[in-house]
Amino acid sequence: MTETPVHEINHYINGTRTPKEPDRRAPVYNPATGEQTGAVALADAERTRDAITAAHRALAEWQAMTPLRRARVMFRFKALLERDLSRIAESITREHGKVLSDARGEVTRGLEVVEFACGIPHLLKGEHSGNVGSDVDSWSQRHPVGVCAGITPFNFPAMVPMWMFPIAIACGNTFILKPSEKAPSTPLLLAELLEEAGLPAGVFNVLNGDRESVETLLTDERVGAISFVGSTPIAESIYATGAAHGKRVQALGGAKNHMVIMPDADIEGAADALMGAAYGSAGERCMAISVAVPVGEETAERLVAALKARLANLRIGNGLDADEPEMGPLVTRDHRDKVAEYVEIGLREGAELVHDGREVDVPGHPDGFYMGACLFDHVSTDMRIYNEEIFGPVLSVVRASDFDEAVAIVNRHEFGNGTAIFTRDGDAARTYAVAIEAGMVGINVPIPVPMAFYSFGGWKRSRFGVLHAHGPDGVRFYTRMKTITARWPRGVRDDNQFVMPTMR
Ligand code: NAD
Repeated sequence: MTETPVHEINHYINGTRTPKEPDRRAPVYNPATGEQTGAVALADAERTRDAITAAHRALAEWQAMTPLRRARVMFRFKALLERDLSRIAESITREHGKVLSDARGEVTRGLEVVEFACGIPHLLKGEHSGNVGSDVDSWSQRHPVGVCAGITPFNFPAMVPMWMFPIAIACGNTFILKPSEKAPSTPLLLAELLEEAGLPAGVFNVLNGDRESVETLLTDERVGAISFVGSTPIAESIYATGAAHGKRVQALGGAKNHMVIMPDADIEGAADALMGAAYGSAGERCMAISVAVPVGEETAERLVAALKARLANLRIGNGLDADEPEMGPLVTRDHRDKVAEYVEIGLREGAELVHDGREVDVPGHPDGFYMGACLFDHVSTDMRIYNEEIFGPVLSVVRASDFDEAVAIVNRHEFGNGTAIFTRDGDAARTYAVAIEAGMVGINVPIPVPMAFYSFGGWKRSRFGVLHAHGPDGVRFYTRMKTITARWPRGVRDDNQFVMPTMR
C-alpha cells in the first residue's frame, strides 16, 4: 500500500484560510482504503468567536446590497459549481466513500438549491394592501436575520450545507458553516468557488470543529439562527440550547424510513427500487429505506426472494474505481463496527438473517471500511434493530397482514422522516399519503426527496423546530417579517385622537 501524505484541513474565515495553529486536530480517512488522508482543525471557543466576528462585520454591507446583485453572485456560483462538479464529487467520495455517480447526484441536488436562490428578488417580495383603512396602506417585507450558522452531518458534505447557505446569504445574511469533522474538505472547495463568484469576505465562513465550536455558536448572542442536520439526540439538544439563547433553530434529526409494498405492486420493480433505496450510499442516507413492510404473506415471500437474488450480485468496492461499484464503504471503521454489532443484535433478538454481508472481500483494499449488504426477515417491532437508526446497509422486513396494520406500524415509530408505498391502487396510495405521519411521502418513488423549490423535513422526532429546510420554508427561516402600516397627511388633519385606532 502506498502512503498518502496527510494534509492539514483548516478553516476559511473572513475570506482567508486560517493558519494551522493553535487548533486541536482530528484524523480524516479515505474509507475506501482505510488510510488517514487528512488532519482537520477543531476550532476552540476563541477561533469560533473570530468567525462570528468576521460574519458580524460583513453583515451591514452585505444586507445593504440589492437582492438583484446578491442573486448575481448566486448565478456565478452556480456556473462555477457546474464547471467543478467532478472535482467536488471526487472530494466527497474520497472522504465519505459513496460511489462517484452518487456523489455527482448529491452535488446536483445542492446546485438546485442555488438555482432556487438565484430567484431571491422574487422570493423576497412581501405582500401589499392599499387602503386597509381610509388613506392607509399596509405591507410586509422580509429582513435578514443576521449571522446564521449551519451544523451539518458527514453523509452529504455538499448537499446539506447547500440546503442552507445559498438561501441564507441570498436573503442578506452572513453564514458560518460548521461541517462534519469526518468529511471536511468539500465545504472548503465550496468556499473557494463563492470567493471566485465575487462573494465579499466574511459573508461565508467555514469553521471546522466539534462540540466546543458548536457550543460557542449556540450561545454567542451575535448568532441569530442555527440550522442543524444530524442525529436526533444532538438535534434535540441543539434545538433546546439554541432556543434557550434566543435563536431561531431548525434541527433535522434521524430517521427509520418504511416502504410499504402492497400485494398488487410490481414486486420486481419494488425490489429494484429497494436495492437502491436501502443499500445506496451504504445506507448512510437520512432518506434511505431501512424497513420494508410487505402486506400479506405471499407479497413478503415474493419480495424477500427477489431481494435475495439481487443481493447475491451486489457490487461493492472503491467508489473512485473506473468500473464503478454499486456500493462503497462505510464512513469510518468505528461506524462499520457499530453497524456490524447491530447485525449481531438482530441475530440475538431472533430475526432471520436472509443475507449476511459482514464478511466482504474487496480486492486491493484489505483495510477499507467495507461491509456488505444485510437483509433481515421476520423482524418485529419490539426489536432494537427495528427501533433504532442503524445508518448502514441493513434492511429489515416487517411483515404486515393488511394495509391498516402496515399504516399502524409506520405511524407507531418515533421517527417520521420519509416513507413510500408501492402499489397500483390509487385509492390505497391516496389513503396512505393522507394517513401517514411523516414529512415526505413517495408513491412508487422510493426516496421522495422534495425538489429545491419545495421544502425538506420530517415529522415527529425527525425534526425539531417549525420550519423545514430549503424551498419556501428556507426563505421564511432566514428572514424576519416586518409589517408596516402607513398613512400620509393630506392637508389639514383632524385633532389628535386618544382612542384605540380602528380602520375606517
Ligand atoms: P451527528 O449528529 O453525529 O453530527 C452532526 C453534526 O453535529 C456534526 O457537524 C458534528 O460535528 C456535530 N456534533 C456531533 N456531536 C455533537 C455534540 N455533542 N454537540 C454539538 N455538536 C455535535 O450526525 P452524523 O453522524 O454526522 O450524521 C448522521 C445522522 O444525520 C443520522 O442520524 C442521519 O439520519 C442524520 N441526517 C438527517 C438528515 C435529515 O434531513 N433529517 C439528513 C442527513 C443526515
